[in-house]
Amino acid sequence: MNKEVVLSGIRPTGFLHLGNYFGAMRNYVRMQDEYNCYFFVANWHSLTTHPDTKELQSAVHRVIAENVACGLDPNKVSLYVQSDVPEIAELYLYLNMLAYKGELEKTVTFKEKVRLNPENVNAGLLTYPVLQAADILIHRAVKVPVGKDQEQHLEMARNFAQRFNHRYGDVLPEPYAFNYGGELIKILSLDGNGKMSKSENQMNTLYLADTDDMLRKKIMKAKTAEAPAEPNSVKPDFIENLFTLMSLVSTPDTLEKFNTDFNNCVIRYGDMKKQLAEDMIAFVAPIREKAADIQNDKALLSSIIKQGAEKARESAAATLKEVRQAIGMNY
Ligand code: ATP
Ligand code: MG
Repeated sequence: MNKEVVLSGIRPTGFLHLGNYFGAMRNYVRMQDEYNCYFFVANWHSLTTHPDTKELQSAVHRVIAENVACGLDPNKVSLYVQSDVPEIAELYLYLNMLAYKGELEKTVTFKEKVRLNPENVNAGLLTYPVLQAADILIHRAVKVPVGKDQEQHLEMARNFAQRFNHRYGDVLPEPYAFNYGGELIKILSLDGNGKMSKSENQMNTLYLADTDDMLRKKIMKAKTAEAPAEPNSVKPDFIENLFTLMSLVSTPDTLEKFNTDFNNCVIRYGDMKKQLAEDMIAFVAPIREKAADIQNDKALLSSIIKQGAEKARESAAATLKEVRQAIGMNY
């Protein structure tokens, strides 16, 4: 039986963080045995917001190294760099004819990026969801392991696939966001201001490359509040976020203890953060060390990238052939 196809990408815009890990990479690792997986470094996407390319090559290498350090096996999946697969750009061109300016302008991530950087509202930024749809549809992927911030983009990818199929014939299956357990995860930044992010609010984001001291420092100054006044209160979202982090890296007993303290209004956030910091260090340190080793091995990196590109291009070329035939561009 043919395995279902999975695709996901990460932009080389900075250091990978806990949100990337739990929203995306943890799922990649779990999916690699069960599915036919394509994971890529989205270097074209990074140009939409990061026109300066001085750091781009090392950032691409770091994303590859960190993914492998987290447990991705380049022999099981195709781990590739987006710009190594030109077929994606051609599909992007066809899909652009099916995407409307009005719907692209309404995209939440577009509006957010315009707000943050009004000086650089380029066409690539506007059509980001179209390129993302091409990334997915080029392998006819149906499952896309991403965090909650990507839900709207997936809906757009389904719309573009439907429009293509309606106009030219059934070629492109509809993709869906995927997370084990069904719930898409969102890790907030430690000051409760938006999500953890590679390119924003770095002192409130926990990176897989952070030193032990840095992790401790960031966690100890995470936003907290007074202990609740009423038993079994609803947690404010920035407190809920600390519990989410604890549920991901600490033992169930530890989580249970602090939950009970919270519900009994006797929680001491200083103690909770100390414990979380130590558990976070135990989780991050081995990944950080392994990633650094891989990143220093340039021969290994280039063989991983080459092998990934070959596998990705084979699948991409097969889809593009059918796309061209459906449109009538086979002469
Ligand atoms: P940038 O700030 O450059 O956009 P990013 O941190 O948002 O970087 P992306 O490369 O855009 O990272 O996304 C990579 C993957 O990580 C996506 O699947 C995205 O859904 C997921 N992701 C990003 N941030 C979070 C977060 N805070 N919580 C959960 N998932 C996240
Ligand atoms: Mg992002």
